[in-house]
Amino acid sequence: MEHKQLKEALETLKETGVRITPQRHAILEYLINSMSHPTADEIYKALEGKFPNMSVATVYNNLRVFREVGLVKELTYGDASSRFDFVTTHHYHVICESCGKIVDFHYPGLNEVEQLASHVTGFKVSHHRMEIYGTCPECSSKENH
Ligand SMILES: [Zn+2]
Ligand SMILES: [Zn+2]
Repeated sequence: MEHKQLKEALETLKETGVRITPQRHAILEYLINSMSHPTADEIYKALEGKFPNMSVATVYNNLRVFREVGLVKELTYGDASSRFDFVTTHHYHVICESCGKIVDFHYPGLNEVEQLASHVTGFKVSHHRMEIYGTCPECSSKENH
């Protein structure tokens, strides 16, 4: 499954004429395997042992390239630095207000809401955002002890 996703992502890069460097390969692989929606900094820390010449800026630039070809989504929730999500199927995010963890939540897209919003306001709707906030199980159990 993961290998298939990586293969498809590399195909997409090839098709769009983006050069596949060992760093890009490693960043993509990390994003696909990590379910944690990492920041550029976290990706850098995970891979710096492998690529001593790589900088956080390089990681960030590569993530930008992936975003432009549609492989990666940049998540900007409030204050903190952007987190990155490998784009698979559409999903929503549940966010812990205590530790900032982001967990995927699969739910059918709320297309009716977009249609209704468009109908009521006359807007040409492009997309919507929905985030669910709360306390994750780990943080809840800490609070109760
Ligand atoms: Zn938490
Ligand atoms: Zn996600």
